[in-house]
Amino acid sequence: MADPWKEQDDAANALALVQQAAGPYLDSLPERLVHDSAQDPGIDDLGGPLPEQGDGTLAAVEELLAVGTRAAVHTAGPRFFHLVVGGATPAALAGDWITALLDQNSGLWVTSPLAARTETIVLGWLKDLFGLPQDFGGVLTPSATFANLTGLAAARYWWAERHGVDVVADGLTGLPRMPVLTSGLVHASTRKALQVLGCGRDTLRTFVRDDAGRLDLAALERALVELDGALAVIVGNLGEVNTGDSDPIADLADLAERYRAWLHVDGAFGLFAAVSPRTAHLARGVERADSITADGHKWLNVPQESGFSFVKDSSILGKTFGGWGAAYLPTLDDERISYNMHGPESSRRARAFPIWATLRAYGRSGYREMVERHLDVAAHLGRVVDEADDFELLAPVQLCVTCFRYRPPGVPAADLDSLNARLGQAILDDGRVYVGTTTYRGMTALRPTFVNWRITEPEADLLVRVIREIGPRL
Ligand SMILES: *Cc1c(COP(=O)(O)O)cnc(C)c1O
Repeated sequence: MADPWKEQDDAANALALVQQAAGPYLDSLPERLVHDSAQDPGIDDLGGPLPEQGDGTLAAVEELLAVGTRAAVHTAGPRFFHLVVGGATPAALAGDWITALLDQNSGLWVTSPLAARTETIVLGWLKDLFGLPQDFGGVLTPSATFANLTGLAAARYWWAERHGVDVVADGLTGLPRMPVLTSGLVHASTRKALQVLGCGRDTLRTFVRDDAGRLDLAALERALVELDGALAVIVGNLGEVNTGDSDPIADLADLAERYRAWLHVDGAFGLFAAVSPRTAHLARGVERADSITADGHKWLNVPQESGFSFVKDSSILGKTFGGWGAAYLPTLDDERISYNMHGPESSRRARAFPIWATLRAYGRSGYREMVERHLDVAAHLGRVVDEADDFELLAPVQLCVTCFRYRPPGVPAADLDSLNARLGQAILDDGRVYVGTTTYRGMTALRPTFVNWRITEPEADLLVRVIREIGPRL
């Protein structure tokens, strides 16, 4: 009968199995398909009823490794351009293994001063990397969605307090709707955060001046005037997923100051514009925001479940998320920080370790180089499609996204949406490159995004070749 206590000696052997598989797996990434759907039936092997007698440590780990390394969507490789998905740098990947090895509960200081202090260290490094003042508060989150939730929860606390209500204790009952104003570049996760916070998803008002959803600053200001002194939250979007476009953050910061509004900036990947002098102007003003969202598992290239939230008033996270009133939990302590008092989670893994490892390994200049390489790849693809007569560039390339569509001569305009939708699916079925479709200004478009450290120009060129090979058959 398998029992972990009886198999203690296999712990290191099980890790050795993973380590042995890791080399060949990582070596295969440059060549293998991003996804080989012929391997998907193998996933069935993971099914069946709950085992009565377990297979034992090594057998179980071998099985998961065998299926996993074949059937995964190999986002870690250099040809996954779908959505905004980073890889894990070598140091971040190993840092994540250390997270698993040490298995720290990083919610409370008492369960891991190591994790808590490392979190404080990496938050400081990240603020430095993005040019944010060191006196901002912050917390690591599982994602940008959770960082939006964290920042907007802080905004809600601030807003309710100005209405004389302690929202932590009493909730939103009796309060008016919290006004939230933004542009059409807003990400769905901001709506989701408002939905979860009880503010209501449809609270969000967008002010747009064109069919790309770009901000109508004057209309947003008029709405602030009409609020007649009622406090509002402004959401600035730094890096939108279709094109990489951004709101004018500094202008929004001016409005927030003038109308005493809270400025929340969603820079899930766009905050990395601050890392290069070539794009830093896009992020200008973000240091004046009240709360800022970014992702670790996108452009920082650490493994999945990594985001961060920064908040200007460093006391407000503790007020928003601390003080649970459980007898066995500590109270807020500035010296010995329990990060579960600063964010929505309780128990949590030490997600500071992979961030520490990658920032220590590559530093500011390594990240600047990687970001600039991605800017170059996106711009290169933009030039290629712009100069070709079978492609149409749909938006200027500003960051790491190239938004375009396939438009071969002779195809009627009315057929282009369905052609590009079929093309998107055919590319995924082919599996050599992965790219997603979207609707942009009413058109079905491709929007490859380059944020994985392994990506270079030849991979973007392969995307063009694959489209020219598949496209004429559709
Ligand atoms: C990806 C993204 C999010 C959501 O991030 P998750 O990490 O997937 O939760 C939010 N905002 C923007 C702009 C994004 O690109």
